[in-house]
Amino acid sequence: EPELNSFAEFYIDKWDENTSEDVIAESFTDFWWDTDKACRRCSECGRLMRAGYCADMGVAYYCSDECLHSDFTDEEWAEECENN
Ligand SMILES: [Zn+2]
Repeated sequence: EPELNSFAEFYIDKWDENTSEDVIAESFTDFWWDTDKACRRCSECGRLMRAGYCADMGVAYYCSDECLHSDFTDEEWAEECENN
């Protein structure tokens, strides 16, 4: 709750009714990036995520098996995990 309040206070003057969902989503990842509640955006669908897949030390993130498989086959993902 206190963290959510400080997040809201930080952005209250920066957002208005014309602020895009994309900008708002980026604000979440920026604000929480280095915290114990870190969130990321799925590289495929753009959803915010707290759990999922991370490729190549953060080059890409995937929120679901479906999003992962848009870029990787099972074999390619196994190889990625093996090598990186
Ligand atoms: Zn996704």
